[in-house]
Amino acid sequence: MTGKLVILSGPSGAGKSTLAKHLLKKKNFNLAFSVSVCSRKKRNSEIDGEDYYFLSIDEFKTKIEENEFLEWEEVYPNLYYGTLKVEVERLLSQGKNVMFDVDVMGGISIKRKYNERALSVFIKPPSLDVLEDRLISRNTESPENIKKRIRKAKMELNYARRFDHVVVNETLEDAIAATEELIGKFLEQ
Ligand code: 5GP
Repeated sequence: MTGKLVILSGPSGAGKSTLAKHLLKKKNFNLAFSVSVCSRKKRNSEIDGEDYYFLSIDEFKTKIEENEFLEWEEVYPNLYYGTLKVEVERLLSQGKNVMFDVDVMGGISIKRKYNERALSVFIKPPSLDVLEDRLISRNTESPENIKKRIRKAKMELNYARRFDHVVVNETLEDAIAATEELIGKFLEQ
């Protein structure tokens, strides 16, 4: 298995999943998305097994006990998210490079496990105000959850320097171009 790993991390609302969707369309990158497990409720727009594998907290905890995760985090109180070892192995065994959309702690932990085989990119919002506006207009979270996400984002921004690269998502077009260039170079090596 010679595939590589591309990790997109950064605060919720920074634009990771939009970027990931674009990057997955680039045929020459040969990227497949690592579908995470999570314990939050499915949003209307989401598909189980495509966006996440949606599990109850108890089911999630069983998987922790059975050591099924490459990494997992309680990203928000009582909301668990994790990357399954079997998911990554499955994609690598298909000859794919694997792309992750994970929180900052998850990103650091995958990079630590895979070192040179992984590229970690921190997607940074231009400012916390812009991040808040984006979370509001995305219309997926309650005002209370938005507050939680902004509080967490302040903490997460301190970890940007632990990543291989930081891309500021000022405009989607520029962020796509910058990320594509980084990934292109990394996959060529
Ligand atoms: P959301 O609820 O908006 O889909 O995701 C919330 C946060 O959880 C995002 O920052 C997302 O990147 C992160 N996340 C998604 N999957 C995983 C995972 O498998 N592990 C970790 N550590 N974080 C994840």
